[in-house]
Amino acid sequence: MGLDDELNITERVEGHACGGFIAFYSTLPSSSLNDRLNQLKSRFEVQVFDHERVEAALLGTTGGALIAKRYFPRSILLWSCEHPTPAKLFSDTEKLRCDFCSGDLLNPVRGIFVVWRKHLSTNGIGEVVDFGWCCKGECDRKLRSIVRTKFDFQVLDAWDDIKDMCNPTLFMWRTMTWLNRLHSGERWSDDAFERLKTLLLAVFPHVARHLSQVEREAVQVVLTIPVGLGGMGRLP
Ligand SMILES: [Zn+2]
Repeated sequence: MGLDDELNITERVEGHACGGFIAFYSTLPSSSLNDRLNQLKSRFEVQVFDHERVEAALLGTTGGALIAKRYFPRSILLWSCEHPTPAKLFSDTEKLRCDFCSGDLLNPVRGIFVVWRKHLSTNGIGEVVDFGWCCKGECDRKLRSIVRTKFDFQVLDAWDDIKDMCNPTLFMWRTMTWLNRLHSGERWSDDAFERLKTLLLAVFPHVARHLSQVEREAVQVVLTIPVGLGGMGRLP
């Protein structure tokens, strides 16, 4: 937007007996137009909405989002896909709090979950004896030490990011892996199994939706990792 695109601002404002001028531009105003608009601020109120400010106003409030849904349905669908929010499924939002510091791990999504198994027996089937979640870093280090001591150092840990459990495809793949292990005879302590159900319930509102572009790419990465190395392997 340049000066030539916006002629006679003062005449237009005064001609309509208005108290101010609000400009809606799809691009940023040129520096000369910007200077002109700043000069006019001494005479009446001037506001400029460029595309970023329009977007922020539409997406930053519930009312704005409703307007966007009505008038820009295709754009808002794409935007929603890339900016997922948890589905409203349960009356009470299931909380997932760090086992060590009680910090919220779902708002925003962060941290890891850790599955603890007693050493594998000769038939390759272990027993899940502990299941927890925590912040990365200090909380993780302290909890690992506590759990190892509790089980006399006879346990092995397997961990993953909670963020990955909020990825719809990886959530289902991980859940299927656990079901397969159960079917193969893996035993779970009562507490660990309850914790598993808590995790699934807590993250489910985050997975009941479409994949974002970043998540589609994350799935592609896991698809390239062979099953034997903990990935999903290439689909036939
Ligand atoms: Zn913590």
